[in-house]
Amino acid sequence: MKYFDHAATTPVHPLVAEEMQKWLTEGYFNASSLYQGGRMARAAVEGAREKVRELIGAQTGSLIFTSGGTESDNTAIIGCALKNRGKRKAVAVSAIEHHAVLESCEFLKQLGFEARILPVDGCGRIDMAEYKRLVDENVLLVSVMWANNEIGTIQDIPELARIAHEKGAFFHTDAVQALPYISLDVKSCGADMVSVSAHKICGPKGCGALWVKDPAIIQPFMHGGQQEDRLRGGTENVAAIAGFGKAAEILAKTREENAEGARQRREFVFEQMKKAGARINTPMECSVPGILNIAFKDVEAEGVLFFLNMEGFCISIGSACNSKSVEPSHVVRAIGIPEEYARGCLRISFGCGQTIEDAAALTEAVLRIAAQQRG
Ligand code: PLP
Repeated sequence: MKYFDHAATTPVHPLVAEEMQKWLTEGYFNASSLYQGGRMARAAVEGAREKVRELIGAQTGSLIFTSGGTESDNTAIIGCALKNRGKRKAVAVSAIEHHAVLESCEFLKQLGFEARILPVDGCGRIDMAEYKRLVDENVLLVSVMWANNEIGTIQDIPELARIAHEKGAFFHTDAVQALPYISLDVKSCGADMVSVSAHKICGPKGCGALWVKDPAIIQPFMHGGQQEDRLRGGTENVAAIAGFGKAAEILAKTREENAEGARQRREFVFEQMKKAGARINTPMECSVPGILNIAFKDVEAEGVLFFLNMEGFCISIGSACNSKSVEPSHVVRAIGIPEEYARGCLRISFGCGQTIEDAAALTEAVLRIAAQQRG
């Protein structure tokens, strides 16, 4: 199998699996228990918290463990809106956010909030003129993702946060896809809240974190226990959290090298695809090095995926969360991909465990299958 879908999830690092195994077996204790086993589990949770804090430059503020990027986004958006209800009535999010953000806004609409969608240009970058117009004194919270999961576009988070603050709004960023490749520093990026997820950095699924500069700005919606600074009740998933900590520790040492390897493989595939006449949907100059989105005219992505799968290649159509739908994704629509390409978007993503030879084999297979499909 040749895996090129690291934006969907990443293989668990063997050292992460080893760490988790320890807390699933002999270290099974509840981290709130007061005897020695419990204290060891607590130390594992707090050790992991320190490692994630270090990775994202979050020495101050609250870093709470969640069940993943989805919960972190929900907690940030819904939690902040509920806590500050009555002060302002609108939330503003980019048109290319992950569904975890978009659906949180839909939920807030049911509670009487207004949701403003911030348009992007053909590269997926925020339209700054519209941003300045739409983020006004009625906006309570702005959420713009650091890097997009379908096309990889990176946003200018410090500038967007600065403008939001000028208008008195809170600023959240979903950094789930940025974390594997970009050295995040939450202190200096200007955001009030940042979401990350473990399974995009070779950690376990079902584990993530939300950093909140000031925990007083959010209302928890997991009630019941005093865990996680009282912001997320429930017995901690010690094994997953310890695995996340290990993944963070490994990423801190390997990110530059990983990113460079991904960049080289992406560049190779990009050049070949461009030569063969594919439409390149990823803005190469302002995107994370691990994501390449392409499309072939009048070719359905589903068919290409089917035959690639038969040859052992794993890639995605748009985002994995959309894989049951054959309709072009909201991201494809937002960046205005022409109709003849819109159903043919393929996301190839790069990460550990791949070689340049794998990338060459994938390129050959994609081009051959796409040509057959068009025929
Ligand atoms: N945000 C982005 C940008 C993502 O890519 C994903 C997952 O694909 C999520 C949020 C959701 O994260 P999780 O799968 O950990 O819930």
